Amino acid sequence: MMSRVTLMHFSFNHCPAGLTVLAVAAVCLGAAFPCSCNAGERWFRGNLHGHTTNSDGKLPPEEAALWYREHGYHFCVITDHRRLTPVEPLAHVQTPEFIVLPGIELDSKPGGKNVHTCGINIRSEIGPQGGETVPDALQRQVDAIRAAGGVAMINHPNWTRAFNAEEVLPVRGAALLEIYNMSSGCENEGDPASGVRSTEQMWDWLLTRGMRIWGTATDDVHTYVPGHPDGPGKGWVMVRARELTPQAIASALARGDFYASTGVELQDLRVGRESLALKVRPAAGLRYRIELRGPEGRLLEVAHGEAARFDLSGRTGYVRVRVLASDGSLALVQPVFLDAGRQE
Ligand SMILES: [Zn+2]
Ligand SMILES: [Zn+2]
Repeated sequence: MMSRVTLMHFSFNHCPAGLTVLAVAAVCLGAAFPCSCNAGERWFRGNLHGHTTNSDGKLPPEEAALWYREHGYHFCVITDHRRLTPVEPLAHVQTPEFIVLPGIELDSKPGGKNVHTCGINIRSEIGPQGGETVPDALQRQVDAIRAAGGVAMINHPNWTRAFNAEEVLPVRGAALLEIYNMSSGCENEGDPASGVRSTEQMWDWLLTRGMRIWGTATDDVHTYVPGHPDGPGKGWVMVRARELTPQAIASALARGDFYASTGVELQDLRVGRESLALKVRPAAGLRYRIELRGPEGRLLEVAHGEAARFDLSGRTGYVRVRVLASDGSLALVQPVFLDAGRQE
């Protein structure tokens, strides 16, 4: 399966200010690698999780979408609780450089535990799903989202300390896991004193056991005031796609062709079986630590600075890159699977 290697370099010369990707190359080795190799692709910035006055958000859908449009985003997903907010009435907000995707946030409460998932780019309403246990509730929600044509994201496992990685592992068909939900109370960092893993540790635990699930950062915005604990602009994804359409964005999310960010932007990302290289788009006054992590989240290599190239030959399992800036912001590159893993 590793015999066919294609290397392509391509560049983008039509990108909004601040989002230009100078060059991206990808090495494809079949289905094991979440990369695309077609020229003409761009990076699109988007928020995957946000509420409006159709649930407990503070702005109506139009104004919520406009916040993202006016702050350099290319798309946002409206994920109101228990209802699909239609995006057709928002056609006048959408432009060739900004779209709104339909979504929903489902919830169940098995055993008193808050189990939430977002359905991204769903085509129909989804009713209550219930569930007897956390894995059962997650599976019902994921199945309902997929049946409605959407991409499923498992949300904020540490919010109210609802569930752990062991309860996520049996779930099939979830493409995404919220690693950095930037709204208040999500305890992304966990609580070591109480044995609560961080969401990144959960992700590594799952990846180590063969689950192929991509990590996201989201706003879960409720209040559209920057700096507010539930405000916008704190966690997003940069999606690589050929065009800005709901289907192209959803497909790229499903195959892991994106990275998650809480502030760090990448200028160049090259992923292959033999090496992984990236370059950070530096922000004034910040320093960067680029980490290569592997099974169980083990730190394999560290580079200090704005660029790194990691040799992957001889490594097994999976690797992923985490870029940490000196202000605490991050970029999370999706894992590269080096062995045959579980197929979702
Ligand atoms: Zn939620
Ligand atoms: Zn939410």
